Amino acid sequence: MASGADVQEKLKKGYYSVKERAGKSEVWKKFVSIIDEDGKELPFVACKECMQVLAYTTKIGNSHLNRYVCFIYLSFEKFIFACLINQYSVAYMY
Ligand SMILES: [Zn+2]
Repeated sequence: MASGADVQEKLKKGYYSVKERAGKSEVWKKFVSIIDEDGKELPFVACKECMQVLAYTTKIGNSHLNRYVCFIYLSFEKFIFACLINQYSVAYMY
């Protein structure tokens, strides 16, 4: 399976596209699904603000998406801290 970094790269280069998710949860206001070349939904989502890619399946659940802190809204010190948190939660997923 593709890693988050691969997916991020393909998304930036335009191979993959994004799709709004229909769902009641607050997290779907912040994240979009990632769609591959064949129109299939990947087990990843992207932050709408900064395009950070995070693993997501219904099995994993979305609690790590709830904890996610977007880099765009942070001061530099908080940014470093958020990197650590996000890296931890992303690493934890694999
Ligand atoms: Zn973000």
